[in-house]
Amino acid sequence: MNLVFLGPPGAGKGTIAVIAKDALGVPHISTGDLFRANIKNETELGKEVKAILASGGLVPDEITIKMVEKRLQEDDAQKGYILDGFPRTVPQADALAEMSKLDAVINFVLDPDEIIRRLSGRRVCKSTGRTYHITSNPPKVEGIDDETGEPLIQRDDDKPEAIKHRLEVYEAATAPLIEYYRAKGILIDLDCSGAPADILAELLKKLN
Ligand code: AMP
Repeated sequence: MNLVFLGPPGAGKGTIAVIAKDALGVPHISTGDLFRANIKNETELGKEVKAILASGGLVPDEITIKMVEKRLQEDDAQKGYILDGFPRTVPQADALAEMSKLDAVINFVLDPDEIIRRLSGRRVCKSTGRTYHITSNPPKVEGIDDETGEPLIQRDDDKPEAIKHRLEVYEAATAPLIEYYRAKGILIDLDCSGAPADILAELLKKLN
């Protein structure tokens, strides 16, 4: 099954993708994770996009599309995929339509105040990528990863100025994709205000 998870940053796309990929038996492909891995490994691509990610802006379409095209050619993506964070612009959606046929686009719907609460409270373990929330999903010891014992950090783009910018970018560049996919008849709206297990159950029900 070929799926796109669409929605504002902080709506829970990544959290649900991590549990949905096992339920559906397809890989979770997050363009944000791919960029962050390149930055961590100090690749040429990583150096090119580092400042863009820190500011909360969008990486140019050409670079992003090329990266996704390559990833979708890997073996594990032949049985399907969950694309999380791509497409984010109309040219990216047009390029994806050329590469692959989508079964559904899931529109993650969440109240703007809750989005800001989730993003500003998010903390991550830099080495494993595991995420927490300071109140709704805290680590056992404040500021420390449960598994590695490393200090948790706040992503640069989860800081207030970058959050504001990311939400503006979402409204201007990505939100138009909701109508783009609705017009194609493949959009499924998903209420994301509840707990992850309930959201997943609702998603699987809607996909059936
Ligand atoms: P995310 O983890 O999905 O919030 O993505 C983190 C950052 O990676 C975004 O704020 C952008 O800078 C960049 N990024 C991720 N996906 C895309 C995309 N499809 N197009 C352009 N930039 C992207």
